[in-house]
Amino acid sequence: MSEETTYGFDTLQIHAGARPDPATGARQVPIYQTTAYVFRDADHAAALFNLQEVGYIYSRLTNPTVAALQERIATLEGGAGAVCCSSGHAAQLMALFPLMTPGKNVVVSTRLYGGTVTQFSQTIKRFGWSAKFVDFDDIDAIAAAIDDDTRAVFCETVANPGGHISDLRAISAVSDAAGIPLIVDNTTATPYLSRPIEHGATLVVHSTTKYLTGNGTVMGGCVVDSGKFDWSANDKFPSLSEPEPAYHGLKFAETFGPLAFTFHSIAIGLRDLGMTLNPQAAHYTLMGIETLSLRMERHVENAVKIATWLENDPRIDYVTYAGLPSSPYYKLIPKICPKGAGALFTIAVKGGYDACIKLVDNLEIFSHVANLGDARSLIIHSASTTHRQLTAEQQEAAGAGPGIVRLSIGIEDANDLMADLDQALAKATS
Ligand SMILES: *Cc1c(COP(=O)(O)O)cnc(C)c1O
Repeated sequence: MSEETTYGFDTLQIHAGARPDPATGARQVPIYQTTAYVFRDADHAAALFNLQEVGYIYSRLTNPTVAALQERIATLEGGAGAVCCSSGHAAQLMALFPLMTPGKNVVVSTRLYGGTVTQFSQTIKRFGWSAKFVDFDDIDAIAAAIDDDTRAVFCETVANPGGHISDLRAISAVSDAAGIPLIVDNTTATPYLSRPIEHGATLVVHSTTKYLTGNGTVMGGCVVDSGKFDWSANDKFPSLSEPEPAYHGLKFAETFGPLAFTFHSIAIGLRDLGMTLNPQAAHYTLMGIETLSLRMERHVENAVKIATWLENDPRIDYVTYAGLPSSPYYKLIPKICPKGAGALFTIAVKGGYDACIKLVDNLEIFSHVANLGDARSLIIHSASTTHRQLTAEQQEAAGAGPGIVRLSIGIEDANDLMADLDQALAKATS
């Protein structure tokens, strides 16, 4: 259904990518729990392996349940195609893989999910890649960091942990001028709140583990391609523009046009890196997306109420939510995420480290977990958990100082959430 772009978001989140099962008429997308698919004959098999015909070979590459999810996310993001994979972190590697070779770098925001900071600052070095961390509020600094070996720019729409908003239009103007793609992690905003491709993003990555699935059940990731980048415009992306030896010299950009990145990610990325999403997980995520708009509306409504109440509470020093008029990012909301600034923010509790520990230990509805984007409300004290190994200065720079906790506001009754925070704050600061 991706062609029928006249439908609204609420219709597409239920119908895009899904059609009654051709074999049985099953209305819901079946879980195609199979590893392999029977070829019609030897010629059919050869055509599939040569990428001359599109079809199913082996579920490491493609699976009908996963394909439905890919089409649904691509449609909601306004992309040409999408590839799902086993986690959000896998999606980040899948996005970079066709672009990078040893010696190349990516210019990335300092405000990123903690695991992404580690992946970019440590692990990708083993591939000979590197990341340059820049304050993405400073657009000139992004331009200055790009050099001849830079192959992408990477940021989050609504950044973890503080809920800062990236000015995607200004950032994509810089990447466009340099002839390189902008990759945007849209996990915390979701396509309901923001559609980065409309602001110039080339690729959008997701941890579908979070809001898209929506209830903390399965891991997954996705790379959406806008289909708008000309990979042959310069000589920086030979994987996409030059002949591919593994497919008899096929040129992905020339052969597949706006689907070049998507086909490359399936035919080379999934085939050789093997970070495949399983059909069971795809099913849970398809179910989750059916209610995405309803959940995001409640997430945002609750976050605004709770952040406003906390900002006025004498036990709190400050709240970082971009949905508050006091936030320096508030003015970007109409432009970047017109339906709201998400439901993720940090609060500084008077009483520092000890008060934060007591707060998380005394909450009853909020769970102290290393996750976000669940239907239930979550809290984490980063300084004693995810950011425990960092120095005091590094913790402060990451927005994870000892007196700060991060909230992921769920879709429960907002009054119950405030009552829970109120009683735990009373114990924490008494
Ligand atoms: C969770 C998360 C990731 C990593 O995703 P996993 O599914 O846990 O691998 C990446 N980016 C953001 C913004 C996240 O919240």
